[in-house]
Amino acid sequence: MIEVRNLVKKYGTHLAVDHLDFKIESGRIYGFLGPNGAGKSTTMNIMTGYLGATEGEVLIDGHDILKEPEEAKKHIGYLPEQPPLYTDMTVREYLEFAAELKGIPRKNRAEQITEAEKLVKIKETEHRLIKNLSKGYRQRAGLAQAVLGFPEIIILDEPTVGLDPKQIIEIRQLIRKLSKKHTVILSSHILAEVREVCDHILIISKGKLVASDTPDNLEKELGEHDQVELETDAQPSEVRLILKNVPGIERIETQVNNDGRTWAKITEKKGEDIRERVFLAFAGARVPLLTMKATGTTLEDVFMQLTQNDAVPEGFADQAKWEEVETDAGSL
Ligand code: ADP
Ligand code: MG
Repeated sequence: MIEVRNLVKKYGTHLAVDHLDFKIESGRIYGFLGPNGAGKSTTMNIMTGYLGATEGEVLIDGHDILKEPEEAKKHIGYLPEQPPLYTDMTVREYLEFAAELKGIPRKNRAEQITEAEKLVKIKETEHRLIKNLSKGYRQRAGLAQAVLGFPEIIILDEPTVGLDPKQIIEIRQLIRKLSKKHTVILSSHILAEVREVCDHILIISKGKLVASDTPDNLEKELGEHDQVELETDAQPSEVRLILKNVPGIERIETQVNNDGRTWAKITEKKGEDIRERVFLAFAGARVPLLTMKATGTTLEDVFMQLTQNDAVPEGFADQAKWEEVETDAGSL
């Protein structure tokens, strides 16, 4: 449905998009995930015909977006990062204007606009001037514009930025609803968001595609080694002795807790599940295991690992800051 081939975008000498190659199949929700500055908006702007590429091509249902923008644009609804809202218009006027630009036949316009307004829950504010709307309602006006005419592909650049938590939940529900009939591509720098709504994640880092898979597969395939944690009354040296001949162990870390018990973190070799062997080894030594639990690699680990060398913008200096920014975005 969409094919991006060898896409390159340079701003002067700065390589914002670095040879991207991927395909988008119909009927799924795709997430572009990457830190700020990764190249998500630039890629989306090129895919929707708003920006030219330095090299490469984007085919929408076989139509080259750069050579036949009109034809290709008919298949796409787009909510850019900064939606081009005409703030002196009312919501309704703005959508009428957008419908005209999209070439929606006059006789269908009123009905289609009403349908889009109802879908994004903005009907009750349709006669208000956009400049008097809250950020959340402005975003919805932009969304209504994107879904207007119900094109096959809907592309949303950071659709929940600046919305409050309740609005974020509503937008996510809306995205899921849209995905029943449309292919949806959204971008986000927030992992939790992409994981929650997307069937397929494309991780972008410094203009490059560094991973592309389902959330589950990303965790499985790219996850580092899994770990097993256990607690016992035996001393660390005894724990190491018991585990000495257990196959599949990469590393053992131990620590004695305040209660005098030993807590051990065992890192498994890739693809191994050592829990049964560990249990039997302790049973064989007649040393009771008080706790044993497996801890897998999370998508967070994968994401941090893949994007760790990114030039991180100010305010994103470390993981803690990331989370802080996410929370802020959700409560503005
Ligand atoms: P993202 O959407 O992932 O945050 P962008 O696509 O906005 O990333 O930006 C990718 C890179 O290109 C960044 O380093 C950004 O500073 C740079 N960039 C974006 N737009 C322009 C522009 N108009 N002129 C120069 N550099 C730009
Ligand atoms: Mg962006």
